[in-house]
Amino acid sequence: MQHPGQTKKEIRQPGKSRLLRSLHSFSGISAPLLHDRALRMRIATISLLTLLAALAIIFGSARVARMIYHTDQTMATHRLVFEINEFIARHFDRALAYLATSPQIRSACMGSSRTAAGNRDLFNMLVTAQGTLDASVVYVLDASGTVIGSSPYGPGRTLTGRNYRSRPFFLQALAGQTYHGAIFSTITDEPEIYFSRQVLSGKGGDPVGVVVIRVSLDSINSFIHNTLNKNQEALLLSPDGIVLTASREEWRFRTTRLLTDRRKNELVKNRWPGEQILKPMPFLLKDRLVHYNGKDYIVDIQAVELPGWHIVTLQRVPYPFTVVLILTLLTILAGGMFAFTTLSVHRELALTEEVRLGRAERKRAEAARLGTLRELETILAASLVGIVLVRDGLITTANERMTAIMGYTPEEMIGKNVQMFFPGKEEFRKFVRMYARQLAQRELEHIEYQLQKKDGTVIPCTLSGKAIAAPDLSQGVVWVIEDITERKQAENELEQARRQAVAASRAKSVFLANMSHELRTPMNGIIGITGFMLDSGPTPDQRKRLELIRTSAGLLMRIINDILDFSKVEAGRLELEETPFFLRSALDGVVANLDVQARQKGLTLTVHVDGQVPDILIGDPARLMQVIVNLVANGLKFTPAGEVVLHISRLKDLGPDQVLLIFEVRDTGIGIAPAKREIIFEAFAQADSSHTRQYGGTGLGLSIGRRIVRLMGGELHLDSEQGKGSRFWFSLPFTVARQDDLLEQESAAASWCPGGPPDSLAGRILLAEDEFINATLAVTLLEDAGLTVKSVTTGKEAVKAWQEEEFDCILMDIQMPEMDGYEAVRRIREQEIKTGAHIPVIAMTAYAMDDDRGRCLEAGMDAYLAKPINRSELLDLLGRFIAAGRDD
Ligand code: ADP
Repeated sequence: MQHPGQTKKEIRQPGKSRLLRSLHSFSGISAPLLHDRALRMRIATISLLTLLAALAIIFGSARVARMIYHTDQTMATHRLVFEINEFIARHFDRALAYLATSPQIRSACMGSSRTAAGNRDLFNMLVTAQGTLDASVVYVLDASGTVIGSSPYGPGRTLTGRNYRSRPFFLQALAGQTYHGAIFSTITDEPEIYFSRQVLSGKGGDPVGVVVIRVSLDSINSFIHNTLNKNQEALLLSPDGIVLTASREEWRFRTTRLLTDRRKNELVKNRWPGEQILKPMPFLLKDRLVHYNGKDYIVDIQAVELPGWHIVTLQRVPYPFTVVLILTLLTILAGGMFAFTTLSVHRELALTEEVRLGRAERKRAEAARLGTLRELETILAASLVGIVLVRDGLITTANERMTAIMGYTPEEMIGKNVQMFFPGKEEFRKFVRMYARQLAQRELEHIEYQLQKKDGTVIPCTLSGKAIAAPDLSQGVVWVIEDITERKQAENELEQARRQAVAASRAKSVFLANMSHELRTPMNGIIGITGFMLDSGPTPDQRKRLELIRTSAGLLMRIINDILDFSKVEAGRLELEETPFFLRSALDGVVANLDVQARQKGLTLTVHVDGQVPDILIGDPARLMQVIVNLVANGLKFTPAGEVVLHISRLKDLGPDQVLLIFEVRDTGIGIAPAKREIIFEAFAQADSSHTRQYGGTGLGLSIGRRIVRLMGGELHLDSEQGKGSRFWFSLPFTVARQDDLLEQESAAASWCPGGPPDSLAGRILLAEDEFINATLAVTLLEDAGLTVKSVTTGKEAVKAWQEEEFDCILMDIQMPEMDGYEAVRRIREQEIKTGAHIPVIAMTAYAMDDDRGRCLEAGMDAYLAKPINRSELLDLLGRFIAAGRDD
């Protein structure tokens, strides 16, 4: 198992055990195996054990060798001991016993046979004994220690006559103890072994003498040499620890332990070679292992039957180099083999594991694949849209929803041409022509298409397609088909509902327009006629009442206007003008009226426009003034004492010709409770229901004001403290008009009316108005101004009158029976095309909706006047048109 990202180079990095590396190269086992910790431990243990075994071999072999050699050695020692016991000790003891009990020696010692013949017999016997025993000398001493018979000792010499009465071998033997001792012979200059034994006068008799056999140590030497092999050394120790004889000449007469001075003297006295010979041995025998001449020897000591005498053997133990070498090599080889086997087994196991894991992995992958397939099948089955896989035009897979949508069983669909979903061959071809390329390029999304079900019904569907591998469509395309019948139905219903709503809204607008018309017409009449009556010189009392009527009518008109404005705002039909205007003069126009009100209440009205506020702005001055007037009027209304201030300032520049102005109206009035501060902006809402009684009002002003401010791009805010006053303020962006803009407008106006509104006019006017009051009012007004008026009450009559008579201008009401103003104008204009003439037509309408103006102009009218007719406005317009007509 190669670890990812691990390279051979990394494996061979320095620092890895050389042993492991060599094992690796030796065995060819993949190095990552050695990354297995358990395996590393095992290999390390094997290496350690091999090393320990090799060390045991190296160091233990010497010990083993010693044990093996020791067996050899003890056998050699035993043999030597046996030979010395058998052929020396016992042999000479037996010989001594025989000689001591022989009649010749006994009698000789007793002096009874000390005759020549007796001496000869004794001599012969001793000579025979000497020869038989291969002794150096055999001799007999009497009880006084004098040698009474001796075998020859050296050429022609005997010891006869000599006295050894003070010698231990004599004294000890005479006392009854068999003596064995090594004594240095002055004759041979060699140490000899003395065997001596008492001679009794008879069985159980007195000691009468001593028999002595002296044997050369050579005989022992020969045993030693015959017994030992080349690795063995041997030495014979006396009870004093003196080496009597040894396999190595240089060891002879050396001492193996320290001798006391007394003992040394004794030995010297006994003619031992003296201190120069009794040197210590080069090693101590009490050690089990001695080192001599660069060689190791093991020591074996055994006693022989001569009391205090010992045979010592030294066994040289050579180091078993060859054996050690072979064994060590074998051990290393075995260790290596073991390590190799372990690695092989491990690799085998690892490979098996790898195979096992591989199989498991394959199984897992297969299980995952099956799981994914099942998931996909479930997703397909659960899908709320129909899904089909189309390959080479044939349906290969279809989900349950698809069978539900199209009404086919899966068997009926699979393998069939996808064309089966289309109403006909031609439809299918058309579809392919339209969308195949799009599909090949990328994907098709939500195409609405009519598909045919099994039962023949055609249903609206959305089709989405995605090629498995664009642009190779042969790999298949997944179609997602959604039955949108219900959606279509819902859409249709919704569309219907929308149409109904639009119609309802239109009906509402028409209703409002009608209402406003209906309300304004009589109001028009009331105000107009009151005006005429006031002009016709009434008595002071009548004037007072007439003025009351006019004020009441004015108030009512305001309410009607408010309701109308509100309806417009609600219907989203309030449209703002974009026209250049003088802010300050616009204010002057409205403030004058308010100032009158203020003074009547004893209040101060201050209007302050900062110098930085540009004078000419572009916007809707009427609507702006409407908001300001409403706020100031409210201030005046709800302030019992003190002042009302209107302050306009420039907040900041928004661009090169864009400013943000802040409008503020503050009063020192009754203020508004915190809980009411939002409510009062709602329609028909007042801070206190008692206000209606106390101050009057509809509760619409602020609601309309806020909406107008919002339409203009601002927000109407309020700060107030109850009992102290209120502050209404809003900021609005305005485009600053260039002087040219206004000049253009003014010059346009000037071209229409070079002389300004005329006081009196001359001309013929056709008035089309069905309302009696309005018609009367208009006729009075026009005739007052010096004009001739022809009055008709329907559009049809108007057209007829125009055809038959000459007029300078037509004043056309819009809502009339039989034919309305629009239609009448349209007909007039149609006919004018032939003649190329153009009669000015001024619409008069109580339809105060903004789009009325557009409709009027569209229908071919030249100007537009809202009822109630304002005298100067009407005359001004008429003046322009009549003058223009004359110019023509
Ligand atoms: P109206 O004034 O016709 O009632 P508005 O919408 O203009 O309707 O005002 C709504 C109500 O807000 C008023 O009835 C009054 O209670 C309160 N309000 C408006 N302006 C002021 C003001 N300056 N001081 C105190 N209350 C005011």
